[in-house]
Order: sequence, then structure tokens, then C-alpha cells
Amino acid sequence: MACAAKATANGAKVMVIDHARKPLRKLLITGGGKCNITNRNVLPEHYLSGNPSFTRSALTRFTPANLLRMLEDAGIPLEEREEGQIFCKRTSEDVRNWLVAGAGAAAFQLGGRIHAVTREQDMFVVRGEAGEATAPHLVLALGGPAWPQTGASAYGFSLAKQFGHSVVPPRAALVGLHLPKNSPLLGLAGMSLPVTLSLTNPGEKKSLPVAQNLSLLFTHTGVSGPAALQASLYCQPGAELVCNFLPDTSVDALWDAPESGKTLVKNRLRGLLPARLVEALLPPALAEKRIAETSRKDRDMLTSLCTRFPLSPTGNEGFRKAEACAGGVNTHEISSKTMESTKMPGLYVCGELLDVTGRLGGYNLHWALASGFAAGEVIKTNE
Ligand SMILES: Cc1cc2nc3c(=O)[nH]c(=O)nc-3n(C[C@H](O)[C@H](O)[C@H](O)COP(=O)(O)OP(=O)(O)OC[C@H]3O[C@@H](n4cnc5c(N)ncnc54)[C@H](O)[C@@H]3O)c2cc1C
Repeated sequence: MACAAKATANGAKVMVIDHARKPLRKLLITGGGKCNITNRNVLPEHYLSGNPSFTRSALTRFTPANLLRMLEDAGIPLEEREEGQIFCKRTSEDVRNWLVAGAGAAAFQLGGRIHAVTREQDMFVVRGEAGEATAPHLVLALGGPAWPQTGASAYGFSLAKQFGHSVVPPRAALVGLHLPKNSPLLGLAGMSLPVTLSLTNPGEKKSLPVAQNLSLLFTHTGVSGPAALQASLYCQPGAELVCNFLPDTSVDALWDAPESGKTLVKNRLRGLLPARLVEALLPPALAEKRIAETSRKDRDMLTSLCTRFPLSPTGNEGFRKAEACAGGVNTHEISSKTMESTKMPGLYVCGELLDVTGRLGGYNLHWALASGFAAGEVIKTNE
């Protein structure tokens, strides 16, 4: 829609082809229905891509300030939450209406299933349930397969492959993680607390800080909430995820305070962590010791359990529960300036279909818009 709006404004005749009766269904459920549309601070390092500098050009030309001005001009009330996240004050419907209106009267819709997309005599031909459309430019902006309940699928990848593109293997991202069946944390479903997480992927020596003081939610199968979702973006199969349950506490000092000597270890920790978590983390014999009775080894173990607890994810909730799809159309084969394919002139790829995935916090919608505008800028006429 962003691309259609820009191209329409440039004088191009645009047709938006969408299989949904009402397009942008996924947008409606974003941000819990309030659409976290952007972030005050959007930089290439907020995205994961096989080509880390790919986003730079489009993001430099379409900044959060540009978007905020557009939304303000459209009269959409916004609110800023923690970490610079910008949400709609009312509902995501505001943003959808704005995008659809922007695509304009010139843009009309060919609904229903698409049967085939072909290239015939320098033109793209789209055949579908509702008829046939022919154009010199074709923009693939079908999104990724995350949250298929909205009609999302991997069809965009098939089309890109058909035109000669390679696709970085898609995987669910911004998604809850599964923990081993014997994890002591599985009994804590419903509890949440702020944590810091670091991740070491297989074959890598350095651990990566992936969540800083974000909320971790325990579920029946593992962990979710912003901390886990953020970690899932970077988490390869076999990764080790280490959790600091006390990110703001100097833990060694806990055991050294002279007044703590008679206190039971479990009671000392209960002042800082939920009682059920303390019970799950500590071996019973250690929990019942008085702090004065603990050995150096005990204290090292306590510190390690509270600040370096291994989560060892065994998988994730999959695309059905994922907010994004990592991987996608190989960005080395796309112009970072115009989003045009280097394999097939006239073909463009935008948004989540590309191998560009943002962190939690408004980055993915910002990318969808920035890449859409970048393509729309160069599609000026239909000659
Ligand atoms: C639950 C949830 C919450 C999210 N919250 C946020 C958030 O708050 N902030 C944020 O930045 N990101 C959020 N995201 C991610 C964000 O929604 C996506 O990254 C973004 O919508 C991608 O935009 P897109 O235009 O590439 O694809 P989409 O928004 O998926 O749009 C694709 C369009 O193509 C159409 N289409 C798809 N397949 C076909 C087909 N086969 N034929 C014809 N038409 C088709 C669809 O109907 C749709 O209109 C969330 C995602 C989910 C699932």
C-alpha cells in the first residue's frame, strides 16, 4: 500500500492485487490492536539480514520523523511507550485506513486467489480468480508466512523463486521458545519478570546480549514475552540462552551482607524474586541453609543459578504464533535503493518478504513502509 501510494502520487496507474476481501489483516492485529507503527530510533542494527547494510538506504530516506509527520498530517492520534515505541492511541484501523486511502482512487483491487504470475513480452501478467492484470512493473509485497490465521503464506517466496531469486531459509521469529520437558521452569506458567538474556549460537564463541531488562513470561511449554521474542530472532537451533533473573542486583553482595547470616537462602532470594521461581531454581538442601552456613561453592552456585541460568531452548512455537518470519528473499539480489530485482528488471520486492527482520518495537512495520516507499519512488509511469 505504501508503494502504491507513492507510485500513484508519481502519476503511475496502479492496481493493488490482494487475495483478502479487506487487505492488511495482519496490520490490524499488530501491537495488540494498536499497531506499534514505528520507533523513535530506527537504525540498520535493529534488523537481522544476511546483508546487514541493506536497510541503510531506505531507512535514511524514510525516517521515523518522516513517518510521524505523515501520521500527524493524517490526524492519527499516537502515543509513545517505553523504548521509543510509537503506537496508535485508538486502533490499528487508523493506520490501515490511512494506507488504503493513500493508495488512492486510482488503485483498485483484484481480489481472490492468484493462479499464476508470468512474464510475457516484457510485461508481467497476473491471472487470478477475479481476472487478469498486465503491467510493466510488478511489486511483490505479500509478507511472510508468520501468523497464517491472517491469510499469510509462503507464496511470495515461490513467486520470487520463479523469477530466479534465492530465498534464505524462512524460520519463525519473534516467537515463544520451548524449553526442555524436564526444565524446572515449566511449572511457572503465567508468571513474568524482567530479565536480561544472552545467547550463544552453535559454532560461535561470543555470546550476544539479546534482551536487556525485558519482561520474560513463563508458559506451559517454555518462555514468551518481549525478552523471549527478542531472543528468538537471533536463536539458531541448538543455541544456548542464558538468563539473568537479577539484572539490577549485585548478587555476590547478597551473601556478604553481615545482617543476612541467620537468614535462610530461600528467604533472602524471596525478597527479590517470586517465591515460586526461587523454589524452582534452588536445590532444596541449599534453599534451606542459612546464609552463614553456605560455602564458597554454594555461593558461586547461587550466583550462577540467579544470573547465568541456562534456558537451552529446544524449539519454538512456529509460524502460527510468530510475529515475524526471519529469512526471505536474498537481499544480495535486490537493489537496496529501489528494491528492484537484479535478476528480473521491473520486479520489486518489499517488506517482510525480504531477508530483513526487525526486532520487537515497531521496526518491522517501519521497514514495510520504508521499503514500499523506496520502490514506489522509482515506479513513476507505466511506459
Ligand atoms: C501478531 C502480530 C503482531 C505484530 N505486531 C507488530 C507491531 O506492533 N509492530 C511492527 O512493526 N510489526 C508487528 N508485526 C509484524 C508486521 O505485522 C509485519 O512485519 C508487517 O505487516 C509486514 O508487512 P508486509 O507489507 O511485508 O506484509 P503484510 O502486512 O503481511 O501484508 C501482505 C499483504 O499481502 C496480501 N497477501 C498475502 N498473500 C497473498 C496472496 N497469496 N495473494 C494475494 N495477496 C496476498 C495480504 O492480504 C496482505 O494484505 C506483528 C505481526 C504479528 C503476526
